[in-house]
Amino acid sequence: MKFVSLWAIALVLCGAIRAQFAVDSQLAAEIGKIKAIDNHAHPARPAFGSDKDTDYDALPVESMEAYTEPVRTRAGSPLASEASRALYGPVKDVRARKRQLMDEKREGYANWVLDQVGIETMIANRVAMGPGLTPPRFLWVPFEDALMYPLNNASLAAKNSDRKSFYADEEHLLKRYLKESGLTVPPATLDLYLEKVVTPTIERHKHGGAIAVKFEAAYLRPLDFADVPKSEAARVYAGARGAPPADTAYKELQDFLFHYIVAECGRLGLAVHIHAAAGAGGYFDVAGANPLLLEPLFDNPKLRNINFVMLHGGWPFTAEITPLLSKPNAYADFSEQTFMNYPRAVAQVIRQWLEYAPEKVLFATDAYPFSDEMGWEEAAWVANSTGRQALGVALTEMLHDAEITRERAVELARMVLRENARKLYRLH
Ligand SMILES: [Zn+2]
Repeated sequence: MKFVSLWAIALVLCGAIRAQFAVDSQLAAEIGKIKAIDNHAHPARPAFGSDKDTDYDALPVESMEAYTEPVRTRAGSPLASEASRALYGPVKDVRARKRQLMDEKREGYANWVLDQVGIETMIANRVAMGPGLTPPRFLWVPFEDALMYPLNNASLAAKNSDRKSFYADEEHLLKRYLKESGLTVPPATLDLYLEKVVTPTIERHKHGGAIAVKFEAAYLRPLDFADVPKSEAARVYAGARGAPPADTAYKELQDFLFHYIVAECGRLGLAVHIHAAAGAGGYFDVAGANPLLLEPLFDNPKLRNINFVMLHGGWPFTAEITPLLSKPNAYADFSEQTFMNYPRAVAQVIRQWLEYAPEKVLFATDAYPFSDEMGWEEAAWVANSTGRQALGVALTEMLHDAEITRERAVELARMVLRENARKLYRLH
């Protein structure tokens, strides 16, 4: 229960993220008590000795060209030191303190971090899990994008330096999936590729404990996935092996593979997470990440039984997300916004969604090991603080405007922080 008092205090007092607006104090106390399910994060596995965790992302952002980062997340932001102080106390050497705690708590370290911020379950988007990140506190969401790029990617990778490293990363991950499937190169036909690599990989993920799969496609291409006939895709697959295929033909194959993977997720009872928002980097194609591009997917009768979660809530297209939530199979979380944006901005987004489809709104942090000073632990603290505060502001405003009762406000807080996710993933 330690985090209860800590949170009640944090919501009212915390320095750099102190709001200039009031959260109803009774509501703040209730929000502080709720143990959250975090819909999307990239926790690092505690590593000892020469062991190093490299599985926290399929497309790590460290290798990108320099770009103008949002103010709140720049190096030297007061949020990092505030988060460190809250988690580790007023110590001089945070790295040493972290190492000491990790050595003390060993495989319980990541659970300890979750306890500090009041998160009961963190849904971990990682290439692989491992010791120290285990159920029930950490649940797995693996990446499937690599399966969409079995041909020569040289032409796509040549677009810019960020894409160059992202495609190299996807090729590296596809090699891993091929190896796990008992192969070294993709087989000669599309049918064999689906049968020997794609389906077995998704099945392995399911059997490895996955509750959903993740697409980072927006870092690689626009989100306009067409429903391409298999014969067309098979022709591209068979015809373009070796040399880079024409970009338009390759897109048809990617589109088919995306639909095939999604349908397999439906068969296996896995939800589908899609990065639907602006992303990191100065070359990121913001227009190509507009969630409206996903509408044909949600409306495809063949895919109606699959639950899609638009990660990061479409930012900056947050208004576009609102009507999409009327699709029975569409959900959104507000991860990334809770890290990059200030509480007032996030509160406005949350309020708009809560007034429309509150059953579809999910709390999330996108906690990520950005740097030494902003580790996944600090990022979780920042995003958790901002997320709870923004939720508190949105509900307080709705209460003041007589849209909801106090009881309903608490109920909505519970839905957003845990109940909606619990139902979506059928957790106990
Ligand atoms: Zn993420």
